Amino acid sequence: MKNIVILATGGTIAGISESITDTASYHPAILPIQEIIHGIDGPLNQIARISSEQIAQIDSAEMTHQIWFTLANRINTLLADPSVDGIVVTHGTDTLEETAYFLNLVVKSSKPVVVVGAMRPASALSSDGPINLYNAVILAASEEASGKGVLITLNNAINSSRDATKTNTSLQDSFKAPELGYLGYIIDGRPHFYREPTRKHTYMSEFTVDGLTELPLVEIIYGHVDNRSTLAQAAVATGAKGLVYAGLGNGNMSTAMRTAFEEIQNQGVIVVRSTRVSNGVVTRNGAINDDLSNFIVSDTLNPQKASILLALALIKTNDTAEIQRMFWEY
Ligand code: GLU
Repeated sequence: MKNIVILATGGTIAGISESITDTASYHPAILPIQEIIHGIDGPLNQIARISSEQIAQIDSAEMTHQIWFTLANRINTLLADPSVDGIVVTHGTDTLEETAYFLNLVVKSSKPVVVVGAMRPASALSSDGPINLYNAVILAASEEASGKGVLITLNNAINSSRDATKTNTSLQDSFKAPELGYLGYIIDGRPHFYREPTRKHTYMSEFTVDGLTELPLVEIIYGHVDNRSTLAQAAVATGAKGLVYAGLGNGNMSTAMRTAFEEIQNQGVIVVRSTRVSNGVVTRNGAINDDLSNFIVSDTLNPQKASILLALALIKTNDTAEIQRMFWEY
């Protein structure tokens, strides 16, 4: 039997409401992981030997880089142990995709790592937490999940942590890679994979959390009509080493914003063009001449994931060609 370790961080999967009919008003991060597991002991014990650790007990809005380092180091230590076969991380859904993508870049193992959450609290009628956790353990204990990077499962779907995002504030069918699609499904205790990630991750990654005590500050600036550069300049003045622009369309921007970002780039702060649009590639040298402005494009990474890759990249280099290579590869 496989040995699976569940690392808990809180979120709705550990949430409780006053009424069983509440699915949006509730207190997240209340139940300890032992209690969540206890409700589905029977089915879980059929799949694997389970152990668990409470890494944090937070609403995922409170997630921090320090908790990421603790989590990633713990996962690396556990997976280096030949007796551990896979990891499940329970997490609030609000920032789940970010934690999952960070782990996708710094976990040093091809063993399965699955991040799971729930859209309904544990106390709700038809709570999705138990089935999601059960599916996560199935996935973490499966051979098929090996070498596919950090995975996300909710609502019976298997997603790549690179591509999936939270697409709905409250429905169970929230985590999707809108046009790129699910990697597969988990049905009746069996994962069905139909595709796999093509970008570098986990055991192939050049990034490490070893000895890391902080990440360079990267801020996200949102694009809109009549954008002012004030927020971008304030971010730099308060120590940002990188900016991600959630740009218009193909990462586009007004002349005023381009001029402001060029000045920022000339001060040695790295600027990545991402997009506020939920699908598609941000391409180099479209309406914006990136070669001239020395900008980086995010490829298909959304702004919040681009900010994570940029922060890890900035630990290694300030060379824009090298950082652009990383954005094509991860
Ligand atoms: N806002 C809470 C969090 O992110 C609950 C969201 C959820 O888990 O669905 O932890």
